[in-house]
Amino acid sequence: MISNGATLLDNHGRPVNYLRLAVTDRCNLRCFYCMPEEGIKYLPKSALLTYEEMERLVRILAGMGVNKVRITGGEPFVRNGLLPFMERIAGIAGIEDLNLTTNGVLTFPYVKELKAMGVRSVNLSLDTLDRARFRVMTRRDELPAVLKTFHQLLDSGIEVKLNMVVMENKNTQDILPMAQLTEIYPVSVRFIEEMPFNGEGVRFGQFTWNYRRILEELITHYPAINKLADGANATAYGYGVPGHKGTMGIIAAYSRSFCGTCNRIRITAQGILKTCLYDDGVLDLRKLLRDGASDGQLEGAFRGAFRSRAKDGFEAEAHRLSQGPVSESMSTIGG
Ligand code: SAM
Ligand code: SF4
Repeated sequence: MISNGATLLDNHGRPVNYLRLAVTDRCNLRCFYCMPEEGIKYLPKSALLTYEEMERLVRILAGMGVNKVRITGGEPFVRNGLLPFMERIAGIAGIEDLNLTTNGVLTFPYVKELKAMGVRSVNLSLDTLDRARFRVMTRRDELPAVLKTFHQLLDSGIEVKLNMVVMENKNTQDILPMAQLTEIYPVSVRFIEEMPFNGEGVRFGQFTWNYRRILEELITHYPAINKLADGANATAYGYGVPGHKGTMGIIAAYSRSFCGTCNRIRITAQGILKTCLYDDGVLDLRKLLRDGASDGQLEGAFRGAFRSRAKDGFEAEAHRLSQGPVSESMSTIGG
C-alpha cells in the first residue's frame, strides 16, 4: 500500500482517527426511532460492500492514522461471517481499538469470542427495562435475549455502554430505572437525544427531550450527581454519582454540541463515505473499489473528501444535496 503516513486531517485541522463501519443495513428489530414498522427497503446483497472490500478500506485508513474502529449496522450479527471478519480487522496493524454496537438479540453466544479477539467495548442498545415497552419501542419481544447479552458482557470484562434513545411519550419513565443500573453495575448508561433518522422523516415534530432536560431529570433523582471529565473527542457529557459503580452520559446528538472535536469517519454498508452523520454522503467508495482504484487513489480520495468537510452537523445538514431533510433510517448509517 502506498501511504505518505500522514495523519488524516480535515480542513478545520481536526485529526480523523475513528472509523464507524456499517456492515449491513439489515436488522432484526424495528426500533420506533430508527425505521418504520414495515422496515426499510433493504439493499440487494450485491450493493453491500464485501468483507474483503471493507477490510481493504480499513487497511488503507489504518495507514492514515485511523486506529479505532467501531463495527455497526443495521444489526451486525444478522450478516453471516461477522466474527471472522472482525478478527481480520483486529489483526490489522495500527488498529488499536475495536468496538461494536449491537442490539444484543443475537450477540450472547459470541461474547467469549469477542473478548478473545480483543474487543474492548460494546455499545448495547437498550431503551427500557420493561418488557412491554421494549416490545412497543422495538416492535419485537426480545428483551430477555438483550438482557442475557448484557450480563454476559459484564461477566466477560468487556466494557459495556448502554445506549438509550430518549423519546417523548415512549420511554421517559425509563430514565430512572436505566440510571439505577449504574448503582449496581460497572456500566456506562448513555441517554441519547432522538434524531430524525427514522426512515420516514415524518413524525419528528416536537423535540422536547434535549440534553438539558435529560440532565434536569437525572438531577431530580440524584441531587449529588457530578460532572466527570470528558475525553478529548467524547460525544457524551459524563456524569457520576458518589457510590455508584457505573457512570452516566448524555449525548446531545440532535443539539450537536460536540462537533468541534469530531474525529469520526463513517462508511455505510453500501460504501458511501460520510464525513458527518448529518451529510448525505460525500464519496462512493464502492464505485471506486469496483472500478479498480489503487490503494493510493483510495487514500487520495479519502484525503480529498476531508478537505471540504462541514464544520458541524448543522452545516452538513444544510449542504445535503440529494435527499432533502434528514429522513433516512439510522440502520443505513450505523449511528
Ligand atoms: N443495530 C445496532 C444497535 O441498535 O445497537 C447498531 C446500529 S444502530 C443504528 C446504532 C445506534 O443508533 C443505536 O444505539 C441506536 O439506538 C441509535 N439510533 C438509531 N436511530 C436513532 C435516532 N433516530 N436517534 C438517535 N439514535 C438513534
Ligand atoms: Fe435495528 Fe439498531 Fe435501528 Fe434498532 S436502532 S432498528 S436495532 S439498526
